[in-house]
Amino acid sequence: MPSTSTTSISISELRDRFDGRVTAPGDDGYDRARKVFYGKWDRRPAAVIRPTSAAEVAGVVGLARDRSLELAVRGGGHSLAGHSASDGGIVLDLSAMTALEVDRGDGTAWAEAGLTAGAYSKAVGADGLATGFGDTGSVGIGGLTLGGGVGFLVRKHGLTIDNLLGAELVTADGRILQVDEQHHDDLFWAIRGGGGNFGVATRFRFRLHELPGIVGGMLLLPADAELIEGFVAAAEAAPEELSAIANIMVAPPMPFLPPRAHGKLIVMALMAYAGEAAAGERALSPFRALAEPLADMVQPMPYAGLFEPVEDMEVTEESARSLFMDTVDAAAAAAIVERLQASTAPMAVAQLRALGGAMARVPAAATAFAHRDRPIMAGVGCVYEDAGDRPTHDAWADGFAAALRQGATGVYVNFLSDEGPERVREAYPGATWDRLVEVKRRHDPDNLFRLNQNIPPGPA
Ligand SMILES: Cc1cc2nc3c(=O)[nH]c(=O)nc-3n(C[C@H](O)[C@H](O)[C@H](O)COP(=O)(O)OP(=O)(O)OC[C@H]3O[C@@H](n4cnc5c(N)ncnc54)[C@H](O)[C@@H]3O)c2cc1C
Repeated sequence: MPSTSTTSISISELRDRFDGRVTAPGDDGYDRARKVFYGKWDRRPAAVIRPTSAAEVAGVVGLARDRSLELAVRGGGHSLAGHSASDGGIVLDLSAMTALEVDRGDGTAWAEAGLTAGAYSKAVGADGLATGFGDTGSVGIGGLTLGGGVGFLVRKHGLTIDNLLGAELVTADGRILQVDEQHHDDLFWAIRGGGGNFGVATRFRFRLHELPGIVGGMLLLPADAELIEGFVAAAEAAPEELSAIANIMVAPPMPFLPPRAHGKLIVMALMAYAGEAAAGERALSPFRALAEPLADMVQPMPYAGLFEPVEDMEVTEESARSLFMDTVDAAAAAAIVERLQASTAPMAVAQLRALGGAMARVPAAATAFAHRDRPIMAGVGCVYEDAGDRPTHDAWADGFAAALRQGATGVYVNFLSDEGPERVREAYPGATWDRLVEVKRRHDPDNLFRLNQNIPPGPA
């Protein structure tokens, strides 16, 4: 029997108000509705509400504010820290808001915040257009954009926020604001990197780029320290059209790998050259020359082809750390080999992305993403089943990240897990933090939007 009330909200009242788009404990679809990408965030909200308009979003925000309920805002549900799940609160699930309006003449698109990167890319890709998001189609454009957005077009066209022209934002007081360079510019600055701290974005206006096709796909190479160092050097020297995401791991028995590679260290690289095929082949040749590829699936394809759903990935437990590096030299490459081989998890990975290009040409203070000058982003992580093993694998991830750390601290906010307030500060160095706190104090003084990598408003 579906429940009709909780201690502080009446579910039947909510069902009337939101036209039945409310799922509560006891409902048939409850387990599906509360599920997020990472299985470890197995939380039980009082209600999952799926609004269909900005006005309804404002209604949910008002409800959470007035009844002092925890509010979890969910786009694609891929938060590493479980921020789109709640125990006992309300999940504001944007997945019913997926409208997309493309203005070809203007080269822009208004996209509702419930779209995934894959759905958006597929839709605009049909017209030979693209906006850069991340490397995975199922990630929501909401969380990804508000944190920054680092993907295959980062060197050519910058971060996702560098292609964000405006947004519609529901603030803590329930107003629906249009924010851009001319209107509420403090909020427009803050939502470009500051995450969901300032309101619920209901739609975004993005710049579109002509991209009729790319040369892209997976390139698998046998790995040792020398190859890892050479791979990163090639990625940094490549034209800006080319982005390479190198995943270094002990090879599982994947069907497209020769059996001799199983159990050996490999680089599984996701390559994308955003341009014409012959130039793409030339840009890829230094990578193919590093070693005889174990598998080479890089080929001309539509950009959206990079976001084809592979299979529904089930990740239960993960220990991961992210950081920026200045260089991957011989010592760093050797540390990567050693630490990966020391992991006792069923699967452990180090990921390296060469940045620079268009992303680095935007001044650090122009948006709330301040790490413009960091040339390499690294992630280390492992996945496993048993939560009891978490301390062991967390310690491995911490040790690995410490071994790679060089120069200034810093982390990309969207690759933070639940690592505490000190790490959130690392995402927003120096003046960026102070400015974010000021905007937060002005627009969300009671910290209604706190289930995120939180920027507390502090005392007035
Ligand atoms: C498999 C995987 C691959 C990834 N690859 C990349 C990558 O290549 N590049 C990259 O930059 N990032 C990447 N990420 C990180 C990703 O950007 C973040 O996890 C992001 O927060 C996910 O957004 P979401 O909408 O799916 O998540 P959700 O869990 O729904 O939301 C995450 C956070 O954003 C807030 N939020 C979401 N939508 C809104 C909104 N409309 N208004 C206000 N707040 C909102 C939520 O409250 C929450 O705090 C990846 C993550 C995963 C799990």
